[in-house]
Amino acid sequence: MEVRRQIDVSGIVQGVGFRPYVYRLATGRHLRGTIRNTSAGVTIEIQGPAETVQDFVEHLPAEAPPLARITSLAVQDVPCLAVQIGGDQDFRIVHSHEGEEVRTLISPDVAICPDCLREMFDRNDRRYRYPFINCTNCGPRFTIIRDIPYDRPSTSMAMFPMCPACLAEYENPLDRRFHAQPNACWKCGPRVELWDKSGKRIECRDPIVEAVSGLHAGLVVAVKGLGGFHLAVDATNPAAVALLRRRKRRVEKPFAVMVPDLQSAQEICEFDGADATAQTVLQSMQRPIVVLPKKTPGAIPDEVAPFNRYLGIFLPYTPLHYLLLAEGGFKALVMTSGNLSEEPIAIDNREAIHRLNGLADYFLVHNRDILLRCDDSVVRVAGGITRQLRRSRGFVPVPVFLKDDQPSVLAVGGELKNTICLTKGKHAFLSQHVGDLENVESYSFFHEAIRHLERILEIRPEIIAYDLHPDYFSTRWARQQSGVELVGVQHHHAHIASCMAENHLEGRVIGFALDGTGYGTDGNIWGGEVLIAGYEGFERAAHFEYVPMPGGAAAIREPWRMAVSYLAHHFGREFLKLDIPFVRQLNRPKVDLLLRMMEQGVNSPLTSSCGRLFDAVAALIGIRQEVNYEAQAAIELEMAIASSDEDTAYPMKLVPELVPEDDHWIVSTRPLFEALLDDLGRNLPVAAISRRFHNGLVEGFVELATLLRKKTARNRVCLSGGTFHNIYLSHRLEARLSEAGFEVFTQKEVPSGDGGLSLGQAVVAAAKVPRTT
Ligand SMILES: [Zn+2]
Ligand SMILES: [Zn+2]
Repeated sequence: MEVRRQIDVSGIVQGVGFRPYVYRLATGRHLRGTIRNTSAGVTIEIQGPAETVQDFVEHLPAEAPPLARITSLAVQDVPCLAVQIGGDQDFRIVHSHEGEEVRTLISPDVAICPDCLREMFDRNDRRYRYPFINCTNCGPRFTIIRDIPYDRPSTSMAMFPMCPACLAEYENPLDRRFHAQPNACWKCGPRVELWDKSGKRIECRDPIVEAVSGLHAGLVVAVKGLGGFHLAVDATNPAAVALLRRRKRRVEKPFAVMVPDLQSAQEICEFDGADATAQTVLQSMQRPIVVLPKKTPGAIPDEVAPFNRYLGIFLPYTPLHYLLLAEGGFKALVMTSGNLSEEPIAIDNREAIHRLNGLADYFLVHNRDILLRCDDSVVRVAGGITRQLRRSRGFVPVPVFLKDDQPSVLAVGGELKNTICLTKGKHAFLSQHVGDLENVESYSFFHEAIRHLERILEIRPEIIAYDLHPDYFSTRWARQQSGVELVGVQHHHAHIASCMAENHLEGRVIGFALDGTGYGTDGNIWGGEVLIAGYEGFERAAHFEYVPMPGGAAAIREPWRMAVSYLAHHFGREFLKLDIPFVRQLNRPKVDLLLRMMEQGVNSPLTSSCGRLFDAVAALIGIRQEVNYEAQAAIELEMAIASSDEDTAYPMKLVPELVPEDDHWIVSTRPLFEALLDDLGRNLPVAAISRRFHNGLVEGFVELATLLRKKTARNRVCLSGGTFHNIYLSHRLEARLSEAGFEVFTQKEVPSGDGGLSLGQAVVAAAKVPRTT
């Protein structure tokens, strides 16, 4: 029996080789019908014997091309069409109508595919060693789009008319390059050049060979990639790494290294033998930087990631990266964002020469413009779970899929690790990593990211959501906008809502929001918060007791100040009599000044921050008195936990004291510090103290969650905030809460740090504004 079915497919199905794929699937089964692009995706009509049609429908999602992402697939029976009355004689790709509104999802930039890689290293291929080889399964997308619909004239490939050979591929539905918008070759496409530091082109036979000899000589080469420039040095050359650190003014923050293949990665980092997640993620087409434990002694000098047991590694993802690594025979290259500390990554050739002046010796550039900057993504893999630390290249602009339709909201994020978020329907589009909004370059990138996303996603926000901190650049910007509803969202509420949205939760949850800094509704600096929260609102159920931050921001840069603050808070000036190394090494005049500041309440804002508690402990036990990058003390405190340590149950002194007050709990850290000082007095190793500290927090939180469950009858716990980038703490807390019978939800797709804040702001604002429709 003949049947005819109409299949509406939505998701990322345009510009990714989906129509040719369906064409092959249909013709291979001798089915008749059509496929055409629609505003939502593609519509297929398929006719033939019932069994064969059924087989087609079943195979359709399973074998879709790698870049396709099907978000919904609706199948319905339609009347059969006989050939005599205009039915199809075969299967055809029907071209979309001119001017038809196209509103499909845009693919992210992805790594070169195995087919293109093979062709590039094939001497007989016409694209042998061509650094811009790509096809519908791979290459740039998001960073070369100027406007929609996504086709060549709206991309930075518009200036490269295709040669006849490329055009023939582009127009052939059976070719891997059918409608591959960045399709190009040696004859017609972009070219690589090597420039000196003044921006003068260096005459040479092969710019890649020249760049490699620079790297071999220990020099810094700026390399133009997919979403911006990298600064590259030979990672096995300590002097070259030190040179880059000096020039980049990056003292100790780890550098990421690019390795040629999985085998080289395995020589440098520890992979969990039982679990292949890290291998899979490393080789995935998104090619994020994967943070893994370093092998010791390793092939990589300490200068790459000093005081750090972990290393961020990634595989090459552009053809140019592969050519560079192969030509140079490098074991590993440091590939760090082409910028000064915390500024946005440089993307334009001339901009790079100007902004990276004094940083790079050579510039390996090309003439395919990057229209939108996009940093490398960073993930951490542990226990078979991948978590986003920085969600950017390879993932953006794939939306986070929400449970329910949302109004169009623009959420402008926080101050550090900023991202923005735009919602439409069930989609939440988070921007790439915008960075720290503390310098002029970041401001303009922030504007650029908003404008660009609004344009290519065709979103006109009705609501703008922002953080309550009055001094955040993003907040000030949001408050200047008119003609839209403005909604302020508390920082930690946004963290919990972000976790809820990602996990499709409704109602209210017990939310642990732990991080460094967030503006509280009482004007204090929050950061160790337990909320009973839903999208529309929250109650502050518990928090760490307030302590002063002597010197404000200076207390973030100098953890020893927080140690002094905690000791003075709990023990008064008596702590100065303690016979422990921390106190012996204190600079007394400085400490006296600090104590007076706190006693008089001068420049000493109150904080309940979990991050500052980590800082205080790290300083007190001698791990770090001053930091060179955000969260350094907390990171090093986590790493101090040696894996061989016996997992002693800490004396129950570490359980936080719970004081009922105004219907919420204050988590007192006094017993914790008492026990810790005892341990310091009997010279317990730092590794054991750190472990007991972590375990103590976990047990305190489990007890707190149990109390709140009794009080509210809620059993769902959400964990969010930058502190949960601490794998030891998050895994242990998750495990212990699960043992206690809680349903625990964490963030995987979206960072739990401030990079995921905008998602939470968007869903909270949407819930707070009454729907008019
Ligand atoms: Zn390809
Ligand atoms: Zn060509």
